[in-house]
Amino acid sequence: MKRIVFLSGGIGSWAAGMRVMQKYGNGDIINLFTDTKKKNDRHPHRGEDQDLYRFLNESWSYIGGGLEWISVGKHIWQVFEEARYMGNTRHDPCSRILKREAARSWLEKRFSPDEVILYLGIDWTEEHRARKCMDYWKPYRVEFPLIDEPYLSKEDMCVWVEKYGIRRPRLYDMGFSHNNCGGFCVKGGQGHFFNLLNQMPERYAYHEAKQEELFLVIGKRVPFIRRTIDKQINYLSLKEFREEIQKKK
Ligand code: SF4
Repeated sequence: MKRIVFLSGGIGSWAAGMRVMQKYGNGDIINLFTDTKKKNDRHPHRGEDQDLYRFLNESWSYIGGGLEWISVGKHIWQVFEEARYMGNTRHDPCSRILKREAARSWLEKRFSPDEVILYLGIDWTEEHRARKCMDYWKPYRVEFPLIDEPYLSKEDMCVWVEKYGIRRPRLYDMGFSHNNCGGFCVKGGQGHFFNLLNQMPERYAYHEAKQEELFLVIGKRVPFIRRTIDKQINYLSLKEFREEIQKKK
């Protein structure tokens, strides 16, 4: 039985992998990382944060087994342009194509459902996501080692990895709750984008420019960041959101 640990480069999936290793040993582990850009793409703002690759390279060997590094060879804005669709909180073609379908295709070419168990880093605070994942991965079996006691907070997991002399992913120290897509996520809310604008204005500017290009491809501006002011809901683009924040300064 192979044990496939879905390593995202975040602290949760690393801790999940460590629990698998502690319980079963690492002889059957394969760590699977799906990159959100071409492997040799050095653009500073495309794909994952550069520090994620540092963290992944330094930390995966403590889980042991092998590391499979796969990539569709595209980044999120290429996915949106091809789909002529801006990803958002409800629909994430980026994650579907670059992560879920890429991983599924890799898996189906190599293993039948009775040969593997999949391990995801969803923790006890996110149990609602676990059911969705189990449905998605059927007929493969999925387990969530972090849902089990003893419960670990993100800080506990960061302290754990630091015991090995490995610095936690820098995005956590910058106020991001996830180490995904370099701190830009189409599923983020206004607080997330406010943090990105403050912490990494150049990265924000890159995504703002890509979104403006996408609107030209689609032929219209589409709603993106949800804002509620005086009980009124409105939706802003990255550009409009930035301009609104800067006006208030
Ligand atoms: S982290 Fe967000 S932007 Fe990146 S692939 Fe996942 S859903 Fe898309």
